[in-house]
Amino acid sequence: MRRKTMTEKEDNFGFRFDNSYMNLPQMFYTEIAANKVTAPAIVIFNRTLADRLDLDANELKEQGAAILSGHEMPSGAAQIAQAYAGHQFSHFNMLGDGRALLIGEHITKDGERYDIQLKGSGRTPYSRGGDGRAALGPMLREFIISEAMHALSIPTTRSLAVTATGDVIYREKALDGAVLTRIAASHLRVGTFQYAAQFGELSDVKALADYAIDRHYPEIRKADNPYIALLETVLEKQAALIAKWQSVGFIHGVMNTDNMTISGETIDYGPCAFMDTYDTSTVFSSIDTQGRYAYGNQPAIAAWNLTRFAESLLPIIHEDEEEAVRLAQGILEKFPSVYEAHYYSEMREKLGLLYPGDQDEQLINDLLQLMEYNDADYTNTFRSLAEGERPNNKLFQSEQFKQWETAWFERIEQQDMTKEETLQVMKSVNPAVIPRNHLVEQSINEFVEGDPSMFAEMLQVLTNP
Ligand code: AMP
Ligand code: MG
Repeated sequence: MRRKTMTEKEDNFGFRFDNSYMNLPQMFYTEIAANKVTAPAIVIFNRTLADRLDLDANELKEQGAAILSGHEMPSGAAQIAQAYAGHQFSHFNMLGDGRALLIGEHITKDGERYDIQLKGSGRTPYSRGGDGRAALGPMLREFIISEAMHALSIPTTRSLAVTATGDVIYREKALDGAVLTRIAASHLRVGTFQYAAQFGELSDVKALADYAIDRHYPEIRKADNPYIALLETVLEKQAALIAKWQSVGFIHGVMNTDNMTISGETIDYGPCAFMDTYDTSTVFSSIDTQGRYAYGNQPAIAAWNLTRFAESLLPIIHEDEEEAVRLAQGILEKFPSVYEAHYYSEMREKLGLLYPGDQDEQLINDLLQLMEYNDADYTNTFRSLAEGERPNNKLFQSEQFKQWETAWFERIEQQDMTKEETLQVMKSVNPAVIPRNHLVEQSINEFVEGDPSMFAEMLQVLTNP
């Protein structure tokens, strides 16, 4: 077994791997080999990201299919499935990477560390009944949405490639198999901590927390209580992340605790989508019949998940349980105000307001209420405001909107900027395009049927929103 190996071999597509995750206690992972595949072929490759990671983009694109499908391993790679647990729709389950393998942590020339994970690479001990494989369509979907999120400046795992395996997989019908190469600051999740707390000893929770701190937040190592500082930092990161989701109308769809990262990156693009018409009760997951993960619930769910994170940390926060709870509560109760500060800052920018004013929250909420009442499209409304256009729709023709607009213009006039400059700021923060679900679906279906042109066009547009 390789531990802490690092290779700088020239013919390794630029991969320089470390495997620090394997220094954690054995309970956190299982070593297992990826599937061999029949005919690996890269169907989409992210050259910009490959360059950004200091990989040999040309070589990887031309000759990397066997490696990106898991058929062969680059030197220095490991093959490990990570264990975790999690609350899925509020039920606690033992989970783990059922169909993904971490092949290593690639170190860039600047010393940045990124997990390289293959998703769809075969069964693992955490697969339960699943086959460990992935179909081409959903992997293309994760590719395009994660890259669109990145282009919107929202922290996210990223997609380096989708590689067809040449194998057929069976869902309701036979589908083409594929593997996604996912890049993440790490795959540490709230669920990894729940797993440690549930199935491990105090020393396991501590090892994991120390690892997370070293890897993501080394500056808090010296805090009086580093574990309280970890809770506070993750809370801050998640509050900032969810505020960004809300500001672009992104609905994650499955905010289970195993889908909430410690790094603050968005992870797991399953039933996610962007909202069209503004409606806080919008749900995208067909299995979310209760609306638990509806757009308007996302901040509250984040707080709920952070509470599960805090519970996992309690034994290492303080040896006296009551004191640990008191300390954790002191952090958790900050969530609403931390979140709101981020949210209103994002929303102010969308309206071209560069510094906070007393009436801003009212102004923002009034507009949202009018949008909801008039069935207005979320993205298009902000874009129209930024373009100085008032399309002929229910919202813009309403008397209430005209009143709102007068109040907004008055507010803008208080700023030390011309109206033109204000609109310019708004254009820079309000995307003209988002991944509209029906278009994403159409482009994926056409790709799977053999015509990748619409997908390529969409990707081009969405990566310059
Ligand atoms: P997910 O919803 O994809 O994050 O996965 C939840 C759990 O089910 C995890 O333990 C996954 O690894 C596992 N899982 C999901 N899909 C599959 C599959 N096709 N084969 C094996 N395991 C899977
Ligand atoms: Mg998941």
